[in-house]
Amino acid sequence: MLRPNCHYSELKDTYLFYNISQKIKTYQSDNPGKKLLRLGIGDVSLPLCGEVIKALHQAVDDQAVKETFHGYMPECGAPFLREAVACHYAGRGVSISPDEVFISSGASDELGDILDLFDRDSPALVTEPAYPAYVDANIMAGRKIIHLPAGQEEGFVPAPPGMETADILYICSPNNPTGAVFRRDQLESWVDFANKTGAVILFDAAYEAFIEDSSLPRSIFEIEGAEKCAIEICSLSKTAGFTGTRLGYTVIPKRLERCGMNLNEMWVRNRTTKTNGVSYIIQKGASAVFTEEGQRQISENILKYKRNAGIIMNALDEAGVWYCGGRNAPYVWMKCPGYDDSWEFFDLLLNEIQVVGTPGAGFGECGEGYFRLSSFGSRDDTAEAAERMLRLLGK
Ligand code: PLP
Repeated sequence: MLRPNCHYSELKDTYLFYNISQKIKTYQSDNPGKKLLRLGIGDVSLPLCGEVIKALHQAVDDQAVKETFHGYMPECGAPFLREAVACHYAGRGVSISPDEVFISSGASDELGDILDLFDRDSPALVTEPAYPAYVDANIMAGRKIIHLPAGQEEGFVPAPPGMETADILYICSPNNPTGAVFRRDQLESWVDFANKTGAVILFDAAYEAFIEDSSLPRSIFEIEGAEKCAIEICSLSKTAGFTGTRLGYTVIPKRLERCGMNLNEMWVRNRTTKTNGVSYIIQKGASAVFTEEGQRQISENILKYKRNAGIIMNALDEAGVWYCGGRNAPYVWMKCPGYDDSWEFFDLLLNEIQVVGTPGAGFGECGEGYFRLSSFGSRDDTAEAAERMLRLLGK
């Protein structure tokens, strides 16, 4: 008889966002007339920018004509997009060749798939608070997980552990949920640690476009030595509103080798076996993001989200509530004032002021007592939510 993967039974019963949506459903059916303001799930609310739409339309037209029609795309990505991404890095002083760039359908897919590169006996270290998918993907793979928490005292940025502990190191900067960004010296110590121990860093840069402080690294490859120990996973979801359109990219340097095996070559082998590439139309749309005009247009949208974060931060300042994030990230991470249990605080906001956020406990134990607010909603909803929170918490 077939034996299912028994590790699925080790997963926590409910996924964080599923749990939240169930609570919302119950609340709405009990209170049909009440308007909810959602600062919870990190989905975007602004449409794709004009340059991307134009490129998508053009690509659809290409598919209607024999001479410009595209069938299967190259598994690792269309050369035009791999080049555009490499050029984008070059513009920031990071030298990457197009064949070190792999186009994906998004960071989530990639964060799970990339684990194929590693032995199942290689433990994974997750710096926490963390995006829940890191832990769940490794549980499914039957991998040992080491949790490395960081609290308010460390600015939610953990330092490498004192000894050799794990082979796969997850770092997310800017961090979801805390909005904390690793400084250059902090990333340097992680790169040193990985190079000394032979570990590989999986650097999740899904929110790099939100970094405005030029002293903060937007890519792990800004750090010397990272080309020998890191993989960077990026997404256009939050950068350019591609959550429903789907496109990401991953950088695996050719110099990344372990035990005589080249991880870039292994990933080429993996992709050519397990995918038939990302749609031509979507890759064309994505390539518009990397043009000068595309960059200008997406930064306008990012600025709108940042203004929302500013509205939330002003309200918390006025209410005297501690928080971090919000400046170089789309998330504001607040302390639950007067509450140790972040799910209780979730219930309070939902029941009293109909504001939905995300309880910190869903991001690891060290997230307990904190709460994530997202700036991806509409301006009006964000302003109304901030006002309601000030009324409730500023008393
Ligand atoms: N990584 C982090 C830290 C995220 O917060 C998210 C989505 O919220 C993702 C990856 C997934 O991005 P994508 O939409 O590209 O799958």
